Amino acid sequence: MSRLLVIGCGGVAQVAIQKCAQNKEVFTEMCIASRTVSKCDAMKEKLEGQGYPIKITTAKVNADDAADVARLIKEYKPDAVLNVALPYQDLAIMDACLECKVDYIDTANYEPEDTDEPVWRAAYEKRCKEKGFTAYFDYSYQWAYMDKFKEAGITGLLGTGFDPGVTSVFTAYAKKHYFDRIDYVDILDCNGGDHGYAFATNFNPEINLREVSANGSYWEDGHWVETKPMEIKREYNFPEVGQKDMYLLHHEEIEALGRNFPEIKRIRFFMTFGQSYLDHMRCLEDVGMLSTTPINFEGKEIVPIQFLKALLPDPASLGPRTVGKTNIGCIITGVKDGKEKTIYIYNVCDHQECYKELGSQAISYTTGVPAMIGTALVLTGKWKKPGVYTTDEFDPDPYMEMLNEYGLPWVVDEAPVLVD
Ligand code: NDP
Repeated sequence: MSRLLVIGCGGVAQVAIQKCAQNKEVFTEMCIASRTVSKCDAMKEKLEGQGYPIKITTAKVNADDAADVARLIKEYKPDAVLNVALPYQDLAIMDACLECKVDYIDTANYEPEDTDEPVWRAAYEKRCKEKGFTAYFDYSYQWAYMDKFKEAGITGLLGTGFDPGVTSVFTAYAKKHYFDRIDYVDILDCNGGDHGYAFATNFNPEINLREVSANGSYWEDGHWVETKPMEIKREYNFPEVGQKDMYLLHHEEIEALGRNFPEIKRIRFFMTFGQSYLDHMRCLEDVGMLSTTPINFEGKEIVPIQFLKALLPDPASLGPRTVGKTNIGCIITGVKDGKEKTIYIYNVCDHQECYKELGSQAISYTTGVPAMIGTALVLTGKWKKPGVYTTDEFDPDPYMEMLNEYGLPWVVDEAPVLVD
């Protein structure tokens, strides 16, 4: 029996909300709050039409404003807040949770909307020099809440989507059940889906394009090695999807795994991209459309990447058009009982199956299901621990069981092909 406040009602949120409704034992009441309240009302209507017993209300909130979030928390009195808005809002929502002493859960780590803001920029440039990677996002802002969350007796569960989220749980599960020591982790994110558009992104275009147009990096022997964007390319034959080109990217779970499993010698992250996506992205970048710096256009200030977002298809609308499968998982090499071994833990998810079940494509589905699972584990006390943690810092077993139960079954292959 619990009461959840969900902030955001986009592609990922819509899956998380429907999955919470399916998990009747844990989620009994929910407030869906977002900037555009009509989306929350439509979701409430859909669930009520399907006869779910969960009691739903909706609200308007500006999650950039901690005081507005705190106002809503005081009004609704939830047991936890699930943030499935954008990474820009993470700190404001964490501040509100701290003020109201309520548990906090999200799926992506903080990055600022305005990367030219001078105070943030100075700290960023210092961090680039000290740590050796240049991504706009990193965990330092949220890890800084550790002591404050401990003192308040509340849990902050960070990054419970698929990657980050499930990939970190896969690593913790491998350590618990398959290895005495892990040496190498390769995280492979393959989207074999086709939506029929020449160019579209599968989740929020602004966040997605910022991530994939940035420098790549990997963790090796206790430090970051940075690469140019898309500099390292490999091919891999993915189970149930087939042969794909994949590229090394910086990704946030590498930072947490590198810190929490210091034994790991190398952690890399690869994502598949088709040639059409890469050609469009390069062209948009060359003409300045991926810029986050505002420009003046006919007397009005616009941010190019936000304007581009308005032109691109809404990721939540890709569901009916997308066919094919995703395959996301980890190839892990280490030592057990003195012998070297490798396993590949992965999930395969079918875009059309997701659409049939919830009206969403597989990228939203593979993120929204783990968002519900992490929230349920915090609410039931299985993953409740005052402080701020990533998903690799808890017992992986209940999470792995719930992945099977709620639509993301996984496979362990004990003789996979390695990535060179
Ligand atoms: P969408 O853009 O589809 O949805 C974002 C939602 O947040 C919208 O409902 C939007 O409202 C709302 N929102 C934005 N700003 C505010 C604000 N200031 N106040 C209140 N509500 C706001 O994004 P996605 O669903 O694709 O992504 C959601 C999150 O999931 C992101 O943080 C993304 O990085 C993360 N993600 C994580 C993955 C993982 O595997 N870990 C994978 C994919 C995504 P409006 O409707 O008005 O725009």
